[in-house]
Formats: sequence, C-alpha cells, structure tokens
Amino acid sequence: MTVATARLGFGVTFTDHMVVANWSQATGWTPLSLTRNAPLSLHPAAMSLHYGQAIFEGLKAYRQPDGTAALFTPHRNAERFARSAARLAMPQLPPDAFIEACELLVRADAEAIPGGFGQSLYLRPFMIATEASLGVRAATEYLFAVIASPVDHFFASGAAAIDVWCESRHSRAASGGTGEAKCAGNYAGSMPAKAAAVARGCHEVLWLDAAEGNWVEELSAMNFFCVRQPAGDQPELLTPPLGGTILHGSTRAALLTLAGDHGVKVTERPIALAELLDPDSPITEAFACGTAATVVPIGGFASENGQRRLPTEGVGPVTTMMLEALMAIQYGRSPDTHRWMHRVDGVSLP
Ligand SMILES: *Cc1c(COP(=O)(O)O)cnc(C)c1O
Repeated sequence: MTVATARLGFGVTFTDHMVVANWSQATGWTPLSLTRNAPLSLHPAAMSLHYGQAIFEGLKAYRQPDGTAALFTPHRNAERFARSAARLAMPQLPPDAFIEACELLVRADAEAIPGGFGQSLYLRPFMIATEASLGVRAATEYLFAVIASPVDHFFASGAAAIDVWCESRHSRAASGGTGEAKCAGNYAGSMPAKAAAVARGCHEVLWLDAAEGNWVEELSAMNFFCVRQPAGDQPELLTPPLGGTILHGSTRAALLTLAGDHGVKVTERPIALAELLDPDSPITEAFACGTAATVVPIGGFASENGQRRLPTEGVGPVTTMMLEALMAIQYGRSPDTHRWMHRVDGVSLP
C-alpha cells in the first residue's frame, strides 16, 4: 500500500481553532465555545498540575472521496471519556456534547484535513482540573477542550515493523488501578521503561500484568494482537481479554469485528510471555493497534529472558489484511457495513 509521503509528523502542528467548555460544581457545564487556538491561562495552583486530574481522548477525522469528512466511531471515545472522568472523580461530559465539540472543530478547520491516503485530522479532546487549590480532593472546576492536528500515518514508511521490549521491572496498570482510564498519569509512569527500551534498540514497551509479570497486556498507547498458526492450520487472531488493566481500544474493537468479517477466527484469551518467546511457538505474526498508528507490525520481542524474531518480521498476511481492511473503511474505499463512520454535516471539500 502506498502512503502519502508529505511529512506532517504526529501532533506537531495544530489547526487555528479549539473548542472549549468549563464546568463548575455550582453551575455545571457552560455551552461549547469555538475559539482561536491559544495558550491557556492557569493558576499555578490549578489542581491538575499537582494531583493529576487530567484525561484525554484521541480520534480522527478522515476526508472522504465525496469531499465530506467523517469521524471513526466517536461514540466509543465519548463513552470512554465519560468512564475515564468517573475513574478520576471528574465531571462527566454528556457523550452528545463530546461529539458535538469534535464536529464543531472539524467543521471550522475542515480545510486542514489532509487529503493523502493515510493522512487525517487527529482530534485531541481533554479535560483538566483548573480549580486553584492545594487541598487533596476532587477539584470543583474543570476545563474541557478539543484541539486538532493534521497528521500522517503514524509510521509514514508504511509497513515498517517495530521491536518491542517486554517489560518486567515496571508495570503500567494493576488490578483496581487506572489502567483502563485514558489518564495522563498512565503515560508519565510508562516513560522510563520506554526510554530504557529505546536504549536497548527497541521501539516500544510491551507491558506485562502487574501481579505475576507473566501475561501480555498491551503497549503504552496501543493494544496487542498476535496470530497463531500451527503448520497446516488456519490462522487464529489472539488478543488478551479486557479485565480492568487494559485500555478499551476502539481500534481493537473494530479489528475483532473485522477479523470475523474476513473469516479469521479471533480468540480473547490470556497470552503468556513464554508463548511469544518460545522459538517453536506457532505465533507467526504480531501487531499493535490504536487510533494514531492504526496497525503496526511487530517484528520481534526482547526481554530479560531472551528474545525472538518473528518468522515474517511481523509483516505477515493477517496483519496486512487487517490494516488494509480498516483503512479502506476509514477512507471510504469500502462499504461501511458496521456504520462506524460518523459524517460531520456541513463539510464540503474540493
Ligand atoms: C488510547 C490507547 C489505546 C488505543 O485505543 P484506540 O481507541 O484504539 O485509539 C490502547 N492502549 C492505551 C493504553 C491507550 O491509551
């Protein structure tokens, strides 16, 4: 597949506008307001800066062949945002307002949606506590905003595989913790392991369960899949079950459905690290998935207990099929049979 080559990078340039709403305990949510993208003014005691009440989402608007723009499954993001808010004792934004905020921004900045295959307008909704107080409790004032950034396909080189470091020293999420909330702190806690992984020549961290350090969970910002195919058998797509420590990825959910559409058997079951590292294991492909990167092949695993390269260098037939099938729907090249694409009214691009 050819991917547009113009370099937009990821999340480095922003569109002209943003959408903002404020919440206070006394008055609830203000109406959404479309404004110029401009620096925020925060009191230095704003509670998000101290106690970490900060959550976010990520979703994309895709330019369609008929000149309209469509968001991919925004309802999932809206509902997840509300769950993340509840987990951090933050106010819930009604899902309809979340989607309306995204639509307002896409409409205002529609000409910034890049047109290349693989390119899109990445939307970053987020909410932070703004109340000025050092008291340790849930804040009583919050800011919700959406900003937008035109982006390339995350890995603009197309099908380049990444190597992952299977992390056994730090953990990302423990049972009962915040692992399935999309909160800022989860990312901060993952960064030393990521830096160590990069120093070892890997690209990303593959997190293991916090209790036993034995079961594969996900990457820092992407869910994990692998393909099991004993010689002579049909391929089976595997992913760990969601159980409170794994983020409910919208890409993950879509791929589970798409695999079924394409006749690939899918199983959600625990995957032991040893199963990935065993040189004789019938794991033939692996990939990570998320909104930013769609589907990223994994070429090899490294860990304290050895390493393994996958026979296909990760770029195998099932991985490629999943990526192409999903992108075809997102870019309006194949029928949207599951009604995943949410048209933004009032956008007409050349
Ligand atoms: C955002 C995120 C994902 C991917 O979710 P999508 O909805 O597919 O973008 C996976 N894992 C973590 C930890 C995340 O924060």
